[in-house]
Amino acid sequence: MLTTANLRRRNEQKIHAQILSKGPISRKKLVELTGLTGAAISRITRDMITDGILIEGDGAAANGRLGRREVELSANPGFRYVLGLTITGDRRSLVLSDSVGGVVQEADITVVDISDPKRSLKEIAEAAKAIIFEAGAKKSDVAGVGVSMPLAASLSDEMVTAPPINWRDVPVRSILAKSLGLPVKIEARPTSILRAELIRHAPISDSMFLINVAYGVGSSAYLNGQLVHPGTPGFGGITHFAIQGETAECSCGRQGCLEVCAGGRRVLDTLGLPHDEFDQRNRNIAECLASASTGNEVARSALIDAGGKLAFGVDAVLAMFDPSKIVISGEIGRNQHYFEGLLAQLKTLGRNVQQDRIVQSSIKSHDATIWMALQSFVAPEIVNVSTVPTSSHL
Ligand SMILES: [Zn+2]
Repeated sequence: MLTTANLRRRNEQKIHAQILSKGPISRKKLVELTGLTGAAISRITRDMITDGILIEGDGAAANGRLGRREVELSANPGFRYVLGLTITGDRRSLVLSDSVGGVVQEADITVVDISDPKRSLKEIAEAAKAIIFEAGAKKSDVAGVGVSMPLAASLSDEMVTAPPINWRDVPVRSILAKSLGLPVKIEARPTSILRAELIRHAPISDSMFLINVAYGVGSSAYLNGQLVHPGTPGFGGITHFAIQGETAECSCGRQGCLEVCAGGRRVLDTLGLPHDEFDQRNRNIAECLASASTGNEVARSALIDAGGKLAFGVDAVLAMFDPSKIVISGEIGRNQHYFEGLLAQLKTLGRNVQQDRIVQSSIKSHDATIWMALQSFVAPEIVNVSTVPTSSHL
């Protein structure tokens, strides 16, 4: 129901998101960006300053060019903290961030054994408490926890299945929430990386498609003002887009899906390395990436070959969604040889793609979880405003 309080809260969120994504902003500029009246902006921002959400700039960043200095408003980094947790096949890490996405404390917790999900989640929760303590913060200062992990598209948020780390039906959210006493939000890696891309590289164009390539291939998109991922009605992603003539069998029952033909699994198949067991698989992928970087020709061409396979999927994405940008992420996707293979094959397919339309992600795992937690627990409107270009500041 749209009560006055709700409306007020929504306007507050809009203002917060604008300031968070665009940096210090004058009240006058906020009127322009939000469409609210000057009186409303003054009233709402005054309360937000009182509540500790915003701070008034010290004038150092204020613009003197127009002769009259305007006081700018900034997001208060110390308003709340958020915790970010990344779980992938090859790494686990924790980060504590302030309210503007700045890293306050981080910890590599890759040593946590993930073979027993319940035990490892409890260990992770202990590590999270430790970094909150090390930062000199209290648990009550933390707004919530964002978890980014390789999820299989599933119907339930409560029971997580994550094939790359061999977890099946694990109540990740409830275990972490109970152990930490904090709200927890879980999201698939491609979606959280895409959000961070949208926010960090704002203002961006209207649409973006992200393909995350690790052992398998995942995707997520920003289309028509909406962040979508497999599980969102109307968006299936490209994981099970099949390449004709390829015979590798996919868990979906078909052959030649990008999942098995364009990612780490393809690379290991080409190299004749085993990948049935997930520890061994992650070790072999890491070794392959390391030898390719030291000039090993066999590893290099295996990566080029897999990148070439992804080109078929990218070609389809270009034809069907025509996004302004396609971003390739993930440990395999970020590899230079893999990316070269992708671009070369696209050319062979007759796709002349404008430079910079297909790029490799520069988002760090930390940023992906931080912005996901900030959007979930601190500034819900952040993605929406990030994707709307500001009028020129000049
Ligand atoms: Zn499949």
